Amino acid sequence: MRILITGGAGFVGSHLCDRLLADGHHVIAMDNLITGSRANVAHLINHPQFELVLHNVAQRIVLPQPVNVVLHFASPASPSQTAPTGYLQLPIQTLKAGALGTLNALGVAKAYGARFLLASTSEVYGDPLEHPQRESYWGNVDPVGPRSVYDEAKRFAEALTMAYHRTHAVDTRIVRIFNTFGPRMALDDGRVVPNFVGQALRGLPLTVYGDGAQTRSFCYVDDLVDGILALLESSEHMPVNIGNPHEVTIREFAELINGATGNAAGIVCEDRRTQGDPQQRKPDLTRARTLLRWEPRVDLAEGLRRTIHAFRERLLEPTPA
Ligand code: UDP
Repeated sequence: MRILITGGAGFVGSHLCDRLLADGHHVIAMDNLITGSRANVAHLINHPQFELVLHNVAQRIVLPQPVNVVLHFASPASPSQTAPTGYLQLPIQTLKAGALGTLNALGVAKAYGARFLLASTSEVYGDPLEHPQRESYWGNVDPVGPRSVYDEAKRFAEALTMAYHRTHAVDTRIVRIFNTFGPRMALDDGRVVPNFVGQALRGLPLTVYGDGAQTRSFCYVDDLVDGILALLESSEHMPVNIGNPHEVTIREFAELINGATGNAAGIVCEDRRTQGDPQQRKPDLTRARTLLRWEPRVDLAEGLRRTIHAFRERLLEPTPA
């Protein structure tokens, strides 16, 4: 099959490229590299079935040949207040990727009769009042809060995807991705995994925002890719959560990373939590388990071991002149 992946040079997008090429497909990775990076797909550039197309999905997408599948993954995704690639620094681009980008990607799917999969997010649940979060929960999102540029863009993207499905019979899927980690996360994107692992490998104290009692549930990227492909192959049009249900507090997570890296510098608490930083997050996986027969397999310790190894290699790489 010919598969278009928007955001194909991003963290999740590039892992999808790897898997789909290994499965024998032709992959067109579309990216404007504002948050993705050429390094994520450098190992694929000479692959005969791989193309990297530099394009902003907020602009009309014109392809020279039809595609069978469109995977829409292009979007900034880090809520960091300081990282230049965080969506708080790219608010309009984030809204455009979710709104105009989704419209253009759905337009491609409609034109070619291609299957379409939207990368949505647990952020559609906002700071959730239901725990764990089921897909039937409508969420608790402040439409004008700082995170709204991402949350509302993704909520709009889901609405648009369902409208194309219901109005134009486009064969759509919606995956709600919970916190995911693994090799190729941008070292400087300000999210908790690159921050903590980077700090630990440099022997620095880990910066826990607030009191660290907030929780997250971290899924290893290979499990996420398995879940996304299982959803793509299913016939399910309504949203499906994909993530790992093992919930930890951010303080426990910091201690795990210090333990795994042998970092003796400990933890510092910083008052840097953004307004709307969810207090707790954990997926209810009932739908993924029953509809897709999917289950995450890599536990947190093993995922961290692989991620720390990859980060260590990158930190040791000489910086280009
Ligand atoms: N966080 C932290 N220290 C950091 C970065 C993040 O304590 O250096 C916290 C952040 O406040 C949030 C959690 O870790 O509660 C996860 O943050 P992340 O930016 O990874 O993404 P989110 O899950 O909020 O979308």
